[in-house]
Amino acid sequence: MSVYNFAAGPAMLPTSVINQIKRDLPSFNDSGMSVMEISHRSDLFENIINGAKTNLRDLLNLTDDYEILFLQGGATTQFATIPLNIAKTKHIGLVDTGHWAIRAQEEAKKAGITVDTIASSKDNQYHNIPKISQPQQSLDYIHLTTNNTIEGTAYDQLPDLKHLVLDVSSNFLAQDYRLENVDLIYGGAQKNLGIAGLTIVIIRKDLIVDTDLPSMWNYKILAKKNSMLNTPPVFAIYAADLVLKWLKDLGGVPEIENRNRQKSSLVYDFLDNSKLFNNTVEKKSRSLTNLVFSTGDPKLDKKFIEKAQENNLVNLKGHRLVGGMRASLYNAMPYEGAEALVDFLEKFESENR
Ligand code: PMP
Repeated sequence: MSVYNFAAGPAMLPTSVINQIKRDLPSFNDSGMSVMEISHRSDLFENIINGAKTNLRDLLNLTDDYEILFLQGGATTQFATIPLNIAKTKHIGLVDTGHWAIRAQEEAKKAGITVDTIASSKDNQYHNIPKISQPQQSLDYIHLTTNNTIEGTAYDQLPDLKHLVLDVSSNFLAQDYRLENVDLIYGGAQKNLGIAGLTIVIIRKDLIVDTDLPSMWNYKILAKKNSMLNTPPVFAIYAADLVLKWLKDLGGVPEIENRNRQKSSLVYDFLDNSKLFNNTVEKKSRSLTNLVFSTGDPKLDKKFIEKAQENNLVNLKGHRLVGGMRASLYNAMPYEGAEALVDFLEKFESENR
C-alpha cells in the first residue's frame, strides 16, 4: 500500500533511499553481510561514516573550522550536553518559541546553567518568532530553535547575533541559513536525515576544549575518537549517508529549500483562502516543514484526520499540545504529496460546509 506520510518524525524517507536500502540489505558492497551486521571497526563502516561526514560538509559548505559528531541520545540529550561542554561562564541566553525551546531551557538548568530568556512569543501563543535585540549582558551563547515542530513557526533568516547555538531538529538541511555566526548546530536525524537513533552535532573546533565531563558527554573525547568511542548507530549513519547523497544529487540545500517553499506555499495558499480551515501563524514566521491548521471544531478536525487516513494521507493529527492538524512536509515529501493533501482539503471543505 502506498501512502503519503505527514508524520512529524520519524518521518518519510525518499523512495530512492528505501530502494537502495532494499538492494543493499542482503549483502552490503559484496561483503555477504547486511549493514546491520557489519562491525563498526571495519573498513566498510569507516568508509560509510567518513563519506557521510564529507557529504554533510559539502552540503553545508562547512569549513575546516567545524567538527561533525555523530552521536546518540537525540536532541534531548544535547539540551544539557551542549552547555556542559561550551558554556564557560554557565550563563546562556535562549529565545522562547515554544515547547522544544522550553525543554532545552529546563534541561540546561538541570545541568546548573543560568538561562536568560532574551525574547519570547509566549504572550502571542507562540504564533510568531519574536523580535530579538542584542542582549545587554555577556552570554556564552544564544540558543534558538530554528523550526518549532509543534507550533509551526520558523526563522526565515537567522538574527544578526554572534554565538548562536541552533536546534535544527525539524528543518535541518531544509532551509539554507547563513551559518557564519553559528557556534553549534544540533538535531536528531529522524525528520530530514534518515532514521531515529542518530544525533548530529556540528561545532566550531575552537569550542572543543578539555573538560572533566564523563566520556559519552565529552565533545573532546568524542571528536578525538571520530564519534566511535563506543558502538555507533551503524545503520542510522548508513541511512543518513544515503539521504545526504540523494540531497546532493538533486541540487543541495538551496534546491530543496525551493522545493520546500513550493510545497508549503501550495498548502498555505489553500488555507489562506479556505472558509473552513485556518492557520494562525504570522505569515513571515511560517514553517516550511511543519504546517499546523484546524477547523476550530475538534469534532470536525477528528473527522478530517480519519477521512484523510482512509484516503492514504496519514499521520495528520496535530500535536496534543495544540490539537488540530499538522502536515509535516520534510525534504523527502514530494510535491505530489502536498498536491494530494490540498485536493483532499478542498474535497473535505466542499462536503463539510
Ligand atoms: N527539538 C525539536 C525542535 C524537536 O522537534 C524535537 C523532536 N520532535 C526535539 C528537539 C527532541 O528530539 P529527540 O527526540 O531527538 O530528542
